[in-house]
Amino acid sequence: MRPVTSAPPALEARSVVHGYGQTTILHGVSLAVAPGEVVAVSGPSGSGKSTLLHLLGGLDTPQEGEVWWAGERADTLSTQARSVRRAGRVGLVFQHHYLLEDLTLLQNVQVPGLLSGQPDAGRAQALLERVGLGHRPGDFPGVLSGGERQRVALARALAVRPAAVLADEPTGSLDRAGAERVAELLIELAREEGAGVLLVTHDERLAARADRTLHLLDGRLVEG
Ligand code: ADP
Repeated sequence: MRPVTSAPPALEARSVVHGYGQTTILHGVSLAVAPGEVVAVSGPSGSGKSTLLHLLGGLDTPQEGEVWWAGERADTLSTQARSVRRAGRVGLVFQHHYLLEDLTLLQNVQVPGLLSGQPDAGRAQALLERVGLGHRPGDFPGVLSGGERQRVALARALAVRPAAVLADEPTGSLDRAGAERVAELLIELAREEGAGVLLVTHDERLAARADRTLHLLDGRLVEG
């Protein structure tokens, strides 16, 4: 289901080259994720999937090539400008939830809005409800199950209506039932919100729900 749209891609890499020391890991990677599209990336361990996600999330900048968020070039922004822009445009979901233990669930979901200068408590509460935790806004992460924490992390990732969501093994530490629920919610929410999703996963059930899958082989992306 690829939406027909004239909007710029939610997320784009143009001829990205990157490596560490003498070793080049990504040899010219290009990809575009449309608004509302879910794209899975697979590849052997060490092939550079996390490196690619970090570059697309602006946590690092590529040695060559370009990264674009919703039609705006991201890799040339200063580190500070990039982190402000990321907070408003890109939601991140990792294998570990990285919730702040001293904040309530509602406060955790509000963090990206505060960082990007657009706090919206009503939306944070609505998202908590959407992930099935609307009745526990004042609870702290410590009392939740792994799957519940990851559902809060999903709500947080979507809090600022991001153009794109980047997810690195979002179901990797969950049991099967928890993984299934998180996978379903991630994809449903992204489609409802029109966010493009790039997803690194070994979870075949999750990958099978994506609109398409890209394989990272020898530092290049292959479709199929
Ligand atoms: P994947 O996510 O596909 O397992 P990674 O992107 O984590 O792959 O890593 C790709 C390669 O780059 C690996 O060989 C890894 O050891 C190396 N690498 C990743 N991050 C760094 C770093 N910060 N410094 C040096 N080497 C790194």
